[in-house]
Amino acid sequence: VDALLLIDHHCHSLVTRDLDRDSFEGLLNEGSTPGPLGGSYFDSLLGLAVRRWCAPVLDLPAHAPPEDYLDRRAGLGAAEVNRRFLRAAELAALYVDTGITAEPLLDLQALGAAAGAETAEVVRLEQVADEVDGTAAGFAQAFRERLAVRARNAIGVKSIAAYRHGLALGARPPSRVEVTAAAGRWMASGTTLADETLHRFLIWSAVDLGLPIQFHVGYGDQDLDLDQVNPLLLTHLLRAIEPTGVPVMLLHNYPFHREAAYLAQVFSNVFMDVGLAVHNTGRRAKNVLAEAMELVPFGKLLFSSDAYGLAELYYLGALLFRRALTELLAEGVADGDLTDADAARIAALVGAGNARRVYGRDAATAR
Ligand SMILES: [Zn+2]
Repeated sequence: VDALLLIDHHCHSLVTRDLDRDSFEGLLNEGSTPGPLGGSYFDSLLGLAVRRWCAPVLDLPAHAPPEDYLDRRAGLGAAEVNRRFLRAAELAALYVDTGITAEPLLDLQALGAAAGAETAEVVRLEQVADEVDGTAAGFAQAFRERLAVRARNAIGVKSIAAYRHGLALGARPPSRVEVTAAAGRWMASGTTLADETLHRFLIWSAVDLGLPIQFHVGYGDQDLDLDQVNPLLLTHLLRAIEPTGVPVMLLHNYPFHREAAYLAQVFSNVFMDVGLAVHNTGRRAKNVLAEAMELVPFGKLLFSSDAYGLAELYYLGALLFRRALTELLAEGVADGDLTDADAARIAALVGAGNARRVYGRDAATAR
């Protein structure tokens, strides 16, 4: 696994500014601040992993205190820090969700150059909907045309219905009349798109396009209602999409990674990862991955970091994933339940081969 260049099939990009302690801790995990009474986010499994694994990449001893770590980080500057961690992650490719526009991030070309890796874009459906102008009656066609243009060079699309409406979505494509009525309500409201009919329309438009569709599932920041993002809520929709053969990628999933593993087993076109949870659970990442691997067929599991903002998260996502997968496979070999050759083959599938196959990149990234 150490020798394997990973494909990170879901990540975002990096902030380019230098970070003080508050902004660093704010980007470290899905919370924004531990609050005045909550101590520091460095006191978490993720914080311990930063000190243990990231400090040496910045030429500090392992377990360096947070103050020393942040001083050294500031001294090196954001560009050098970003380059060091991205290189150390040893990635073959990054598939980047370009839908976060809250602040300027490294563009795909610069990100790829820093990582020494291929990059490809994943287009957010809701962002495409925001780019459409015109009337409610013209929305359906205008959206489809805009999506076709935006997705021309993309590797996949992504739905953030989880953040807006939750994953309790109906199964069938909505009719033109239903889309027009829903678009009219949305345009009149002046609010963010968060309508069940419209999310379903966006998703079925993407199905017609045929590119893999990523869904945010499970764990995320405070904007999310976690009780509305269990992937089992997608069951009817997944059943309806399955005959099309369009790949559905369930992202993150924690703490519903066992549910996602079940869905990946029973639906032929469903795939999953445990991104975000891997770095957030630090030394317990192995347990999360082990739970996912109870049911998921090995051809249905992918690597992702879900890194956003901090370069450390690409590195830790890759490092902790490699460490967890190595330990799980090595235990299996030691117990006599699989051979060395099985372990090597499974690692190659999960680390990169599945992503290449599902996103149609077999020729592009063969090495
Ligand atoms: Zn993400």
